[in-house]
Amino acid sequence: MGQKIQSVKGMNDLLPVEQKDFKITAAYWQAFENLIQNWTKRFAYQQIRTPIVEQTGLFVRSIGEETDVVGKEMYTFSDSNDTLSLSLRPEGTASCLRAVVEHSLLHAAPQKLWYMGPMFRRERPQKGRYRQFHQVGIEALGFAEADVDAEIIAMCADLWKELGITDYLTLEINSLGNKEERAAHRSALVDYLSGFYEQLDEDCQRRLHTNPLRVLDTKNPALQDIVNQAPRLIDYLGEESLQHYQTVKNFLTGLGIDFVENPRLVRGLDYYNHTVFEWTTDKLGAQATVCGGGRYDGLIEELGGKPAPSIGFAMGIERLLLLVRDYGCLKANNAPDVFVMQQGEGGALVAMRYATQLRQAGFNVAQFSGSAKLKNQFKRADDSGARFALIIAESEMENNQITLKDLRGENGQITIAASELISQLNTWSK
Ligand code: ATP
Ligand code: MG
Repeated sequence: MGQKIQSVKGMNDLLPVEQKDFKITAAYWQAFENLIQNWTKRFAYQQIRTPIVEQTGLFVRSIGEETDVVGKEMYTFSDSNDTLSLSLRPEGTASCLRAVVEHSLLHAAPQKLWYMGPMFRRERPQKGRYRQFHQVGIEALGFAEADVDAEIIAMCADLWKELGITDYLTLEINSLGNKEERAAHRSALVDYLSGFYEQLDEDCQRRLHTNPLRVLDTKNPALQDIVNQAPRLIDYLGEESLQHYQTVKNFLTGLGIDFVENPRLVRGLDYYNHTVFEWTTDKLGAQATVCGGGRYDGLIEELGGKPAPSIGFAMGIERLLLLVRDYGCLKANNAPDVFVMQQGEGGALVAMRYATQLRQAGFNVAQFSGSAKLKNQFKRADDSGARFALIIAESEMENNQITLKDLRGENGQITIAASELISQLNTWSK
C-alpha cells in the first residue's frame, strides 16, 4: 500500500458527511449557494466570475504592499520560465475591478455585481480561519451617493433574516473620510503614537511607519488604553464627509437597521474611504467578523479606469455557515424522493426502467447498485433519507406489479399494477 497523502494545511474538503472539526457538508454548502443565487436575483445584481490567479501587481497596487494580506499572506509564484509573478487571489474586489476596467463595463452604465468563490491567504489555521476560504462579495460600481451604501447594507440584513441569524450579528460602521482628511489624521496619529513608541508591541511599531491606522485595529489588550485615547479620524472629517456619513446613518435608521458606531473600525485593506462597516458576532470566538466592506472611490482609477466611486463588501462563507448551522435556519435536503431496490433474475434492468420513468416524471431517484438481501437494501433506503421505496422482486415481475412503501409517513406498503406507479406516488406526495 502506498503512503497516504494529506490535504494541504488550512484547506478543507467538503464531504457528503460532517467532519469532526469542520461540520459543514457539501449539501449544506450547496443549499447556501442556491439561496445566494436567489438573493442576488432579488436585488438585481449580476454575477461576475474571474480567474483564481492574477498578476501579483494587481493585489500590490489595490490592496497595498504594507497590508498583512499582501505583505505576509499571499501565495505567490512565478510562472515557469516566465518572469511574471502570479498570485492566488486573496480577495475578490481587485480581480472584479480589473475585469471591469479591462472590458470597459462601466462605459455603458454603472454596474451592480456579485461573485462567489475560493480565496487564499497563508494565515494560521484555526476555527473560522483557513488558508483556502470562500467569499460571497457584492460590488456596486459607479455610484457616489449614500443611498447605495444603505442598499448594500440592507442587502446583508435581508440575507441574515433569511438565514435566521439577525439576532446574532451586530452592524458596526465608521467613516474614513477622504484622502486629505486621512492624511491630516495620520500625521496627528503618528505624532501621538510616537510618544508611546517604547510601549508598543513589535507589530504596532512596524505599523506606525507603514500603516499607522492599523495600529488602532490592534487586539493587544495592553495597548487598548493608548489606542482609545488616540486622535479619532471622525474629528478630522470635513463637512462633505460628515454629510455623507450622516446620510448613510439616516437611511439605516429609516430602514430599521440597527447599527453601532465604532470610531476605531478601519478595515485591513488600504483602498477604503468614507463608509466602512463590519457585521460581527460573539458566537465564533476570535473570528468575529462575518462580513466587511466599505467605499473605495479611488480604486478604479488606481487600476487604470475612468474614476468611478464604488462600494462593496465580502462575507466569509465558512464563518457564516458555522454560525447558521448552530443558530440559523438553513436546511440542506439532498435526500432522494424514491429509493429503488430489486431482487431476482432480471430485476436490475426492470428496476432501472422504473427509475428512468420516475425521473422523467420529476422524482429524484436513488437506485441500489449491485445485489444484496432486501433487508440490507431497506437499511440503505432508510439511511438515504428517501421518503418512498420502490421494490421489485420475483412476484412483482411475474405479475407486472410494483410494491411501494412509504418510509416516513402513514401510507404503509402496497402492491399495485405497474401502470399506477406514477399516479400512486403523486397521490402520496401531496
Ligand atoms: P479578519 O479580521 O478576521 O482577518 P479580514 O478583515 O482579514 O478578517 P476581509 O479581508 O475583510 O477579512 O474579508 C471579508 C471576510 O472574509 C471576513 O469578514 C471573514 O468572514 C472572511 N475571511 C477573511 N479571511 C479569512 C480566512 N483566512 N478564513 C476564513 N474566512 C476569512
Ligand atoms: Mg485578516
